[in-house]
Amino acid sequence: MSSPLIYENDPTYQMAVKQLKEAAAILGLPDDVVEVLRHPEKLVQVKIPVRLDNGKIAVFLGWRSQHNSALGPYKGGIRYHPSVTPGEVVALSMWMTWKNSLAGIPYGGGKGGVRVDPKKLSPRELEELSRKYFAAIAKDVGPDVDIPAPDVYTNPQTMAWYFDEYSKIVGYNAWGVVTAKPVDLGGLHAREVSTGFGVALTAREAAKKWIGGIEGKTVAVQGFGNVGRYAAYYLAQWGAKIVAVSDSKGGIYNPDGLNIEEVMKVKDETRTVINYKDAKRISNEELLELDVDILIPAAIENVITEKNAPRIKAKVISEGANGPTTPEADRILHDKGVVVVPDILANAGGVTMSWIEWSHNRMGCFLTDEEALNRLDKIMTNNFHRVFDEWQKKYSNYPMRVAAYVIAIDRVVRAMKLRGWI
Ligand code: GLU
Repeated sequence: MSSPLIYENDPTYQMAVKQLKEAAAILGLPDDVVEVLRHPEKLVQVKIPVRLDNGKIAVFLGWRSQHNSALGPYKGGIRYHPSVTPGEVVALSMWMTWKNSLAGIPYGGGKGGVRVDPKKLSPRELEELSRKYFAAIAKDVGPDVDIPAPDVYTNPQTMAWYFDEYSKIVGYNAWGVVTAKPVDLGGLHAREVSTGFGVALTAREAAKKWIGGIEGKTVAVQGFGNVGRYAAYYLAQWGAKIVAVSDSKGGIYNPDGLNIEEVMKVKDETRTVINYKDAKRISNEELLELDVDILIPAAIENVITEKNAPRIKAKVISEGANGPTTPEADRILHDKGVVVVPDILANAGGVTMSWIEWSHNRMGCFLTDEEALNRLDKIMTNNFHRVFDEWQKKYSNYPMRVAAYVIAIDRVVRAMKLRGWI
């Protein structure tokens, strides 16, 4: 046996491959095609030496994985996290391929990551890290090649630095090289809320199909970053009762409902939701098992596992995070009659809005917030029902994720066949 590749032993990568194989078996894809799909087209590793404020140099490692470009340029975010590994980045890039395919947008899948704890860097150090990382991958990205965006712990400011660095290298304002830019640099204000808005949309549509609508239903949201907070916000706007939310410091619970706008204020002022007064403190684990109608895991991977899945009481789960549910847990939940709207469908609002931003940048025009969100609502509501109906018609013995994967992979495979790659 030859020794494994740098991504092959990673548990997140192994989970992604398992999901791919399950869908491939249903589609009847031969092993050689699965082998093609299992690997990224390109995986770049870069070294980022940063001069710290204390005068010393710290070395960080970063990656960009370009999984598949059959449907268009690679597209996907870049995350900063101390636990980033090349395997995780490859897995996330594969999920982007499926997500973009399922969303019906003209993109392949890519993802980047830097192994760093951004909370430990000063603003100047963070800027240097961001500029150097992007300069190091500049030859591999571009408006028609690979278009990054934010992910965990990166934001519009990070995109502004990337955009500026890249524009200096190529000698013109390359608006289309990254998305989710600040509004003053060709971004859409609606991009900020779009992933959470999309998660809320799919939860709303799933609730209509499964539990008689959203009005008055109780909701728990794990994670109160860019995704969780806006999912909570829109669900509350549409009449749901948000009873629990959490962040990395812990959770808060009030069976009578939380005032989400107030929670947002507390989070912005004190950097955590736990300082919100009118609620009981709970742990992130307890939040997942609360007696609620709808659960939104919007924090990190692998939080719903075979261990806690039997105790989960929600009837509808909409995945804000990428990969929060393991395949074993997915099966347990399905057998209990829980509908799990899979990440590649539920959290596609961000990348779909990215596509709206990118295409408008290239045409030199802009959209209002309202137009942009209405468009996203139409696209995602449509996509949800397309996948849901296909699932119920053909694959109802499997979790909804399997149907989403089958549809997504099939589109990529058809494009690869047409191009003569397989
Ligand atoms: N990072 C987000 C995701 O996982 C957005 C990607 C994008 O807009 O390109 O879908």
